[in-house]
Amino acid sequence: MVPTGIGVAHLPNQRHKIVAKRGANFTLMVCGESGCGKTTFVNTLFTTTIKDPRKVEHRHKTTSTSSRSSSNDRTVEIEITQAELEESMFKVKLTVIDTPGFGDYVNNYDSWSPIVDFVDDQHESYMRQEQQPSRNGIIDRRVHACLYFIRPTGHSLKPLDIEVMKRLGSRVNLIPVIAKADTLTPKDLAAFKQKIMDVIKAQDIRVYSCPIDSDDEGTTQCNRDIMAAMPFSVIGSTQIVRTPDGRDVPGRAYSWGVAEVENEQHCDFKKLRNLIIRSHMLDLISTTEETHYESYRQQQMAVRKFGEPKQAKGENRKHRDKEDLLRKNFTEQVKQEETRFRKWEQQLMAERDRLNKDLEEQHAAIKALEGELDSVYRGAMRR
Ligand code: GDP
Repeated sequence: MVPTGIGVAHLPNQRHKIVAKRGANFTLMVCGESGCGKTTFVNTLFTTTIKDPRKVEHRHKTTSTSSRSSSNDRTVEIEITQAELEESMFKVKLTVIDTPGFGDYVNNYDSWSPIVDFVDDQHESYMRQEQQPSRNGIIDRRVHACLYFIRPTGHSLKPLDIEVMKRLGSRVNLIPVIAKADTLTPKDLAAFKQKIMDVIKAQDIRVYSCPIDSDDEGTTQCNRDIMAAMPFSVIGSTQIVRTPDGRDVPGRAYSWGVAEVENEQHCDFKKLRNLIIRSHMLDLISTTEETHYESYRQQQMAVRKFGEPKQAKGENRKHRDKEDLLRKNFTEQVKQEETRFRKWEQQLMAERDRLNKDLEEQHAAIKALEGELDSVYRGAMRR
């Protein structure tokens, strides 16, 4: 049976008390191509999870630009929504990070880098705060789970998906999600899920995996069921629609019927929501702390002295841009020199032709003079 209540309610007693006092932070990130339903999903999650809308605290935007050349320069907005979930005494600050505008171009090379940088930056920021003498009031925005939205094409993962998922999977708990499940038939959806899992395995993409070796047989079975549903199919909608049997539910109405958000026969939204904010919130938090953050910290410690600032991604970009500019300037200069050389070569050839012509004229003049001289000699001899 899927446990109910917010994740912290399942903490062991001691930690339970500490967390209840402090309140827990949980950060969820959604990413994937634009238009595949991320924002709708976030809104669906909030409307189906937070019954009291007053709890939504704030919404703001931060921007970061990609390092692409000027023709492709664009802004990827990272939108942060926060809400406080409360259950009996326990508070969870839920932060959802939406990443619109991803993969919109024909050439999407590097279009995902602001997203990957964002994940790294949160680890970096936490690590730096941890190194300060006073560690009160640490702002922790490390991403505990990243939902990667896959377009419901029915084919397979695209090279762009594979590339981004590989990078994200090594940094965060990556959870693949099939968007707009109502656009595929159950048979096509099952086949699509299998294809995706095959690619994930073949490409060695690291995805979140629930612990399935619990002492409790019920929990083990529940975790197996969750894993079997991966990649989770979701339907997003904040609309309440009436089903043919008279129920009012969040869903999408069609002439053939209603695609229900919370119906497990229609999609895995409920399973996914349970996994994130109920049954596995604690596991997602601890794997982030113990695996992903720890591996980031160790990597950085191996190449940096204590307290030394990291070379910002921006710095790398600056270097790359500088290198590109130098290469461009060099090519320009070579081109200019080539043009100059060709002109000079043409001038030389024209000069050579002119001299050859002169020489020929001189030869002709000499020949004419020699002829004249010859006839003068011959005239003198005859006399
Ligand atoms: P984002 O760019 O990934 O944030 O995508 P949006 O959430 O803005 O959604 C893009 C479009 O897809 C909108 O017209 C949504 O109404 C629609 N959409 C979102 N979720 C679903 C879904 O589950 N099923 C269907 N059929 N359409 C959806």
